[in-house]
Amino acid sequence: MIGLKKILLKGGTVVSGEKAEIADVLIEGERIKAVGNLFRDSEEIILDNETIIKDMSGRLIFPGFIDGHTHFDLHVAGTVTADDFESGTKSAVMGGTTTIVDFATQYEGESLTQAFENWSSKAENSVCDYRFHMAITDWNEDVKKELKNMLDRGINSFKLYTTYDTMVSDEEIYDILIALKEVGGIAGVHCEDDAVISKLVDEAKKIGEMGVSSHPNTRPKSAEVEAVRRILDIAYRADSPIIIVHLTCKESLEEVEKARLRGQEVYVETCPHYLLLDASKYDLDGFEGAKYVCSPPLRTAEDEETLWSGIAGGRIQTVATDHCSFTVEQKKIGESDFTKIPGGMPGVQDRVSLVYSFGVEKERINLMDMCRVLSENPAKLYGIYPKKGAIKVGSDADITVLKPCKPVPISYKDEYSKAGYTPFEGMEITVQIESVYLRGTEVVNNRKLTTNITSIKGRYVGNCR
Ligand code: MN
Ligand code: MN
Repeated sequence: MIGLKKILLKGGTVVSGEKAEIADVLIEGERIKAVGNLFRDSEEIILDNETIIKDMSGRLIFPGFIDGHTHFDLHVAGTVTADDFESGTKSAVMGGTTTIVDFATQYEGESLTQAFENWSSKAENSVCDYRFHMAITDWNEDVKKELKNMLDRGINSFKLYTTYDTMVSDEEIYDILIALKEVGGIAGVHCEDDAVISKLVDEAKKIGEMGVSSHPNTRPKSAEVEAVRRILDIAYRADSPIIIVHLTCKESLEEVEKARLRGQEVYVETCPHYLLLDASKYDLDGFEGAKYVCSPPLRTAEDEETLWSGIAGGRIQTVATDHCSFTVEQKKIGESDFTKIPGGMPGVQDRVSLVYSFGVEKERINLMDMCRVLSENPAKLYGIYPKKGAIKVGSDADITVLKPCKPVPISYKDEYSKAGYTPFEGMEITVQIESVYLRGTEVVNNRKLTTNITSIKGRYVGNCR
């Protein structure tokens, strides 16, 4: 009888949300078979001749990282994102991410089922595991009837917008939260006040200020904070939990804290670009600032520090990328009108090394915080823990091995994204994503994609309960 392939990761520092300690991890087939000091504690673990033993001394062993916010193959702003599921997930895997949660989006007039099927076919060429949120953009009684079916298909999180042409009204948000509560789903909301933004854009137009530098001015913090407060109020009245996605600033986090004090269940996501880049990027020469156009926009250095301390203090639950890539050429649609610049940046390959280098290494957060916000919490929030997000017996053998190193600059030439740039170019990272296992298969070895990447198929991660 041919047994399942066994790999022993020996003597690395295994990190969870609670601790970081030296241990061995035995992978058998697609699962984790054992964790601990296997040479001392366990007599049952018999390492046969076939077991591949890898020396992990000096390495950090994390549960495969989960990016809870990506947009691959998204048709938006008259174009389509530079990355589809193939380039996007190759980039993800190279960056240590083994599961992504992408936003399936209901286009106007569509049912959620159609949107789900559309995204399922887009994701067929994914090389890492994946899951979807469902963006509800066209709410009606028929859509309401589909929610239960969405939960049955493994979608437990639903995205709502308070701006863009995908927005839903406050009344609809209330109804959706009530309906989600009945089926056990949760909403994640993009919070920016549409009326304020429209007004400010009109004013910019009037005075002919249509360059990139007007982008942050027309989407001020106050527009975000107001929408966060309003969404929290609606969730309070609906007695429903809520996720605030891509929160950017101190004032928004203060609103969340107030809501928590009155007993609300609120989850907060932020992104590497809000932790590391500020609005001065919009004043770069020429059209360079367009690379950083995203919504909400970049804020201030003070906000960055608030967000880091929010992670350390457990006030922020997840760090995801909002990877939504467009080339500079694509962004040029908005060269003479900033409102037409497709918004978004790449980031899926850089997230883990950035959070390690600028968070852990700079002592703003610790290894356990890092594990929580990049892996454990997204797994819990999106209903796939401990299959994903944990190095436990029986969990999928998704494992990312990090090796601390001397500072090296991030360079787009090492990236698989088709964006043509990384917003983090030149920033010095102090860790290498040395190897990555996806369900027991080594997809990155010595910082390179292995040939397994052509044969492994990313799998849809449905309901895990
Ligand atoms: Mn958004
Ligand atoms: Mn997004």
